[in-house]
Amino acid sequence: MTPEAELKEIVSSLKKLILVNQEMGVGVPPVPAGIPEYLEEKASEDIVSSDPLSGLNSLENLEAHIGDCRRCKLSKGRTKLVFGEGLSRAKLVFVGEGPGKEEDLAGRPFVGEAGKLLTKIIEAMGLTREKVYICNVVKCRPPGNRDPENDEIEACIPFLKKQISIIKPEVICVLGRIAGQTLLGSDFKITRDRGKWFSCMDIPLMPTYHPSYITRSSGARERDLKGQVWDDMKMIMARLGLEAKKSGG
Ligand code: URA
Repeated sequence: MTPEAELKEIVSSLKKLILVNQEMGVGVPPVPAGIPEYLEEKASEDIVSSDPLSGLNSLENLEAHIGDCRRCKLSKGRTKLVFGEGLSRAKLVFVGEGPGKEEDLAGRPFVGEAGKLLTKIIEAMGLTREKVYICNVVKCRPPGNRDPENDEIEACIPFLKKQISIIKPEVICVLGRIAGQTLLGSDFKITRDRGKWFSCMDIPLMPTYHPSYITRSSGARERDLKGQVWDDMKMIMARLGLEAKKSGG
């Protein structure tokens, strides 16, 4: 039995005992007024919740809880788990898909080619990587950079959601289709939905193209995609009251 289930059972037995004692008038010492109601309330609170993440209230605690994760098959092929990095009280959180080769080796998000472009975008917004938070849907590299599979996303999504609920950013920016579908549902389409405001966990969410989609393109297409991403970033900046460091491009 899990500690949470055990606690729930203790609370439930205690409640029964109090009620029986009350009925038989053998409550010694008498049950102080309000105790049964208090227990009733507690039973629906975090302390007896079956959510194993409910008691974690910092990114450090969450990372320690994830530990040397073996919850899904991606753990078998990874070098380092990539938890995420940045300011724990960031106003802006970027969510990518999953670590690539460089990230898997470094244990840090967006440090490869796509990461260099993301860093430029962040700096063009008048920010730095240290002032935002950067993480991914899955924390371990999918082999050969394939899309993460549903069971892998399902195993990891509580951690992403917990990161967001700890940070409480003012804006979430999802990078690409996988992150968009994970946080907004399978109907999400990146080409149709980028550049529009959504809401996730009561936080405004802006989807944009994944930087690696841009780095894989060239010429006029690359310029066009960069322009669209910059339009999306300008909407985020307006919401956060930021001024651009330089024009995008
Ligand atoms: N692509 C992602 O989605 N995330 C990373 O961390 C790196 C590349």
